[in-house]
Order: sequence, then C-alpha cells, then structure tokens
Amino acid sequence: MVERLYLAKPRGFCAGVVMAIGAVERAAQTEDKPVTVYHSIVHNHTVVDRLARDHSVHFVENLDDVEALPGGGDTVVFSAHGISPLVRERARALGLSTIDATCPLVTKVHTEAKKYAREGHTILLIGDSAQHQEVIGTRGEAPDHTILVGVLGKSGEGLHDPHTVTVPDPEKLVVLTQTTLSVDDTRRTVDILKARFPKLIVPPSEDLCYATKNRQDAVKAIAPNVDAFLVLTSTHSSNGMRLLELAAETCGRAERLENADDLAGLDLGGVKAIGITSAASTPDDLVQAVVAHFRALNPGLQVIEEGEWENIEFREPKKILPGQPLPR
Ligand code: SF4
Repeated sequence: MVERLYLAKPRGFCAGVVMAIGAVERAAQTEDKPVTVYHSIVHNHTVVDRLARDHSVHFVENLDDVEALPGGGDTVVFSAHGISPLVRERARALGLSTIDATCPLVTKVHTEAKKYAREGHTILLIGDSAQHQEVIGTRGEAPDHTILVGVLGKSGEGLHDPHTVTVPDPEKLVVLTQTTLSVDDTRRTVDILKARFPKLIVPPSEDLCYATKNRQDAVKAIAPNVDAFLVLTSTHSSNGMRLLELAAETCGRAERLENADDLAGLDLGGVKAIGITSAASTPDDLVQAVVAHFRALNPGLQVIEEGEWENIEFREPKKILPGQPLPR
C-alpha cells in the first residue's frame, strides 16, 4: 500500500508555456482560418493533441508546408523555444503573418548571443542536444561565432566535449547556455571551461531559467522523503527529462509517465512514499489524474504538497503582418 504522495511545488506549467499556449488559443479564436504553429508549441504531446483537436491548429516543421495544409491560414505562431532568424525571414518571404511566442527568457539569450558576436567574441553555447529547437534558434543568431558544447554527461552529434573543445581566440570567449539544463551539471561544465579558458566571460545573470531551477529544487526537497519518483513529461521536454534524471539520482528510483495510463504495468510493490513532479510543459490535470489513481487504490492516502507556486506572468505577443518591420 502507498501511504504518502509528495507533490513537488512548483511543478508543471511555467510562465513561458502559459503565454505560448494562450497565444495559440487566442489566435485560433480570432483568426478566420486555422492557425499553424511552427514546431510543437511546447514539448508535450497532450498539449499539442488538445490544440489540434479542440482548436484545429496545424503543426509544421517547415514553413513551406503551410500553403498545402487543408484550410490552412496565413498566420504562423513561433514556439516557446525560439527560432533562428532564417525562419523569421522565410515566413516574411512567404507572406505569412507571425505571432512570436518565444519565451522572453530565451529571447534574452538570443540578445546576449547577438551582442557578444557583434563584439567579436566566440560563444560557447552549452546544451544537451544540437537538435533541440532552442539550441538551433540561439545558434542561428550567430552561427559563425558559436561552438556547441555538451553539458556534462551529454554527448552527441554536433556537441563538443568541454574537456577538449578548441577555440580560435581564448581571450575573446563567452559562455551562454540553453535555459532548461541541469543546474548542477551546467555549473560543473562552466567550471571546466573556466579552468581551461581563464578569460572566459560568464554573464552575470545566468541563462538557466527560474522555472528550471525551481522545479529541480522542489525535487531535491522531496527526495529524502520518498522511495520512488514519478515524473510526468514527454521525452522531448528537456527540462522534464532533467527532472527525471535528478529524481533518479536523488532518490534512487524514478519512472517517466506521459499520463496516468502509463501507471498500468508499473510495479510499485514495497513503495510506501512516492514523489510526483512534472515538466514545465505538462498540464496539471495529468498530475491530478495520477493522484486520483492512488487515492482510489489506497484508502487513507496522505497527499502532501509543500513549497511555493511562482507568481510570474509574461505578456502575450502581438501579431506581425507581412509588411510590418521585423523586431530587432
Ligand atoms: Fe521560458 Fe523557462 Fe518556461 Fe522555457 S522552461 S518556456 S525558458 S520559463
């Protein structure tokens, strides 16, 4: 019998995700034709499926596909992860109206990338995958000045090892990061780079976002109390998969759930206390369905939720018509 559920707080939607989903829903309500989103608006299958089902939203990975969509409109929303300037320019060339739902905390990293590139620095961009949409977008701001470095523990095509990466000029070097990495692994990676390149500039305010840090702290706070963790996340959510790794590291056992259906077949024999958390893109009703499952099976179950919710909001983006100037 499970006796206690500890719900991490904060968990689930961050301000950037709320803003991005709101932007798509608003556009779907106000536009005459179906709205298209470039890439998954956020990295969660349920969110994308609901927008497609309830609001007839299309999702594309290539703007050239918009024209051929059934009933497709001429308004495209850019996802919360941000885009390369090339995508913005392509939308303009295709005569599309755009709504840029890039999270402002990702835009901040883009701004830093442009500034340091203009000043002639090489940017070491720490990420967990060269294929992640946010990494592609940030790199796209200064492709000739950027070298991708894998955060400690991550390797793969296009990612350089922080221990061996070489740079053209160690005197003109800055480090930027993807917003959703492991806080601890990012600090260790920066330490390695700093030891190798003493003149490395580390911007005063970190690029890792508040939501990433707060969700990881909430997992660390609960871990000593639980025998196992359940982490609700899609596999392509970077911040969610970092929560899964952290939960496994801190409590010894962590299972990923897409939703409550994944509980079937999970052997939790001998587990008395469970921690639950969810990615910044996971809707909280999916967490509540998991809680309801355990309540139904375990009379007298204690559900413990300590911590603080965040109180941050981002303004929804405005639509930009094809003829209007591009944002700088
Ligand atoms: Fe923005 Fe962080 Fe949320 Fe990503 S996880 S959308 S960077 S607040």
